[in-house]
Amino acid sequence: MSARLYIVVPCYNEEEVLPETAKRLRAKMRALAEAGTVSADSRICFVNDGSKDRTWEIIRALHEEDPVFSGVNLSRNRGHQNALLAGLMTVKDGCDVTISMDADLQDDIEAVDAMLAKFAEGFDVVYGVRSSREKDTAFKRSTALAYYRLLSRLGVESVYNHADYRLLSRRALDGLAEFKEVNLFLRGMVPLVGFPSATVEYERGERFAGESKYPFRKMFAFAVEGITSLSVKPIRFITNLGVVIFLIAIVVAVVFIVQYFLGLTVPGWASTVVSIWALGGLQLLAIGVIGEYIGKIYLETKARPRFLVEDFLDA
Ligand code: UDP
Ligand code: MG
Repeated sequence: MSARLYIVVPCYNEEEVLPETAKRLRAKMRALAEAGTVSADSRICFVNDGSKDRTWEIIRALHEEDPVFSGVNLSRNRGHQNALLAGLMTVKDGCDVTISMDADLQDDIEAVDAMLAKFAEGFDVVYGVRSSREKDTAFKRSTALAYYRLLSRLGVESVYNHADYRLLSRRALDGLAEFKEVNLFLRGMVPLVGFPSATVEYERGERFAGESKYPFRKMFAFAVEGITSLSVKPIRFITNLGVVIFLIAIVVAVVFIVQYFLGLTVPGWASTVVSIWALGGLQLLAIGVIGEYIGKIYLETKARPRFLVEDFLDA
């Protein structure tokens, strides 16, 4: 029995690209089903993320015309990550495997074959990884690299040059469903789910119509989200800064005392400067300590699963 695949595609104001995307995905799906790689009742699921244009009408028409297309309509715009998760969680119980991709087909759909081959080998998670960033601007390329580095230094596990083009098995989806957090940074959460994973390289093209739904403002907010929803290290940074500043105050105090005995001081100046630094350091330290507890509360409120069992051998 071949696996039942759902290709999940979040769409926000994508009327310009949707007909073409649907056409290409349907051809791909037919080829996969004919080759027996996926079952004949596999589906392409478009998730309408509260679009203001005709996106949902197009999805409805596609569904009526061909049952290979299914659709999820969100009550309002919730953003790419939420829309993607909504689609995955809606189809989860009716499929064996999902592949998520963008509506603009920037993700090369030919990589789907390689992903499914990995799935057949037994991998639960297959990350689509961009083979190069030549088509990006120098700014985008360097900021992306710096960002991935920062993430890993902050202890966030993520796959370099991987966005949201990925295959997830039913088992991995069930694991992901255990993560109840509302601030989503899926590319940082999926590695937390675990299970055997592999990567597949692909060439990322240009959006073939319409414009990006991710302006710089949203991109920046998303980058901050990635850090704050997966790491409490920025809080620890405050604590460390407080300690450093307090130590500086002590060194400066010693220097001033020496200068006092050498008769080099201006009355009142030393005590004022030292107390400013010492108090500043102590205050940062205190904020950091409070922050540590808030960080713990933050992690607790996420109520993430403490573990997911992969195998249980029991006679
Ligand atoms: N998207 C979405 N909701 C939003 C913004 C974007 O569902 O609020 C979808 C969009 O339709 C596309 C995907 O997320 O399928 C990625 O968006 P886009 O291609 O505009 O981003 P870029 O490739 O420019 O980073
Ligand atoms: Mg795009």
